[in-house]
Amino acid sequence: MPSSTYDAIVIGTGQAGPFVANRLAKSGMKVAIVERGHFGGTCVNTGCIPTKTMVASAYAAHLARRAADFGVGIGGSVTVDMARVKARKDEISGQSRSGVEAGLRKTENCTVYQGHARFESARVVTVGSDRLTAERIFINVGGRALVPDMPGLADVPFLTNSSMMGVDFIPEHLVIVGGSYIGLEFGQMFRRFGSRVTIVEMADRLIRREDEDVSAAVLDILQGEGIDVRLNAKCISLSRQGTNIVAGVDCTDGSPEVTGTHLLLAVGRRPNTDDLGLEHAGVKVNQQGYIEVDDELRTSVPGIWALGDCNGRGAFTHTSFNDAEIVVANLLENDTRRVSDRIPVYGLFVDPPLGRVGMTDAEVRATGRPALVGKRAMKDVKRAVEKGETQGFIKVVVDAGTNQILGAAILGTGGDEVVHSILDVMYAKSPYTLIKRAVHIHPTVSELVPTTLWSLKPL
Ligand SMILES: Cc1cc2nc3c(=O)[nH]c(=O)nc-3n(C[C@H](O)[C@H](O)[C@H](O)COP(=O)(O)OP(=O)(O)OC[C@H]3O[C@@H](n4cnc5c(N)ncnc54)[C@H](O)[C@@H]3O)c2cc1C
Repeated sequence: MPSSTYDAIVIGTGQAGPFVANRLAKSGMKVAIVERGHFGGTCVNTGCIPTKTMVASAYAAHLARRAADFGVGIGGSVTVDMARVKARKDEISGQSRSGVEAGLRKTENCTVYQGHARFESARVVTVGSDRLTAERIFINVGGRALVPDMPGLADVPFLTNSSMMGVDFIPEHLVIVGGSYIGLEFGQMFRRFGSRVTIVEMADRLIRREDEDVSAAVLDILQGEGIDVRLNAKCISLSRQGTNIVAGVDCTDGSPEVTGTHLLLAVGRRPNTDDLGLEHAGVKVNQQGYIEVDDELRTSVPGIWALGDCNGRGAFTHTSFNDAEIVVANLLENDTRRVSDRIPVYGLFVDPPLGRVGMTDAEVRATGRPALVGKRAMKDVKRAVEKGETQGFIKVVVDAGTNQILGAAILGTGGDEVVHSILDVMYAKSPYTLIKRAVHIHPTVSELVPTTLWSLKPL
């Protein structure tokens, strides 16, 4: 077995690995980076980039169907060419993938290995017939779709976020099991492409990690577009009926079965830590397989770090990239950065999108601290009215004692961007009164954030 010694080995080329490899190599270390699949990982190939590219196509179709509302004639019916939607998605995703690979290959001091990496010991990793040794190892192996042990699943064909990337046709009736972030994004986009869509969710509401008003407003938006949503589906089972798939949903109301032509499973993610040989290195994982790390992303074994989705401390591209920044700052820049410095922030890219930062109302209530909330409907936001996109609301929660912003949800046009003005004030640890006095551009959605803070009420 050919054996090579490096200063550092990076496993995985997701959102953290390439940055770490690049920075270590630039500092003069001899680095190896290993990728078993597509360069760029989930975000680039089967996650954020392709899905948001497809969301953009779906938005174009939606707007075209609404053209008459704006006084615009299309002169015929609106059709969606799914092969072209996919080709556009493949091109945009492909550019990022080749950019990541090219960037790594041209990095001086960095050797790229293609294959599945496994720990042989705390300092040795094998990749096919290669044996790599290093004093520092960085794990950025990400995750994949969770395929639960659901009755009947073995007997039916199903799609996941990865295989959805190959879909170049419009399913007649797409049944989606899972009413959370990934399921909702795919659900709305395929409805807009022309599929009949049913979303089946076990809980009594969609995106149950969000506040009830957010779940209710998103449900309203999706149902308004003709998406069937089946909540309280406690015992989901699957079977075949000819070429169709039948989902037994056992709902408290409505038909006990949904029959569709295609099935998408969107019930969560699991970390790619099960075939990594972590036991040979002594790296501890929790019950769900996530690698245990401290606040600086060190695992239980000195000299081994875990970054990105596989450490369970974040599930987003920006959290994975921030993990890389934290590790690089601590190792190379004498700048102590920690995961706990990070304020939770993310988007749900249905249309209109949800921008979320900090705590939910429920989380704030659980702390028992006195809090105030400001809320404004998007129909009272002039820019939203002008754009004809008035669904949703702006909501900001502040600490009644310290005046610090505790959390916000902006569901509405531009919500995924506007939320950053709140995020930055939270990072500055400034009081909400700073935004209240700020003058924002008219007419924008951001303009109404200060106004929302004028009339705070007890939460
Ligand atoms: C459908 C979908 C939509 C999403 N949309 C968003 C979004 O809009 N915004 C957002 O912030 N996040 C989004 N995410 C989440 C985001 O994609 C991930 O959080 C992000 O990719 C971070 O992943 P990572 O760096 O941990 O690893 P990944 O990107 O998963 O990369 C891990 C890499 O490691 C490789 N690997 C794994 N095991 C081995 C091994 N043993 N040897 C060698 N290589 C290995 C894999 O092949 C992969 O390339 C989405 C996810 C999905 C599924």
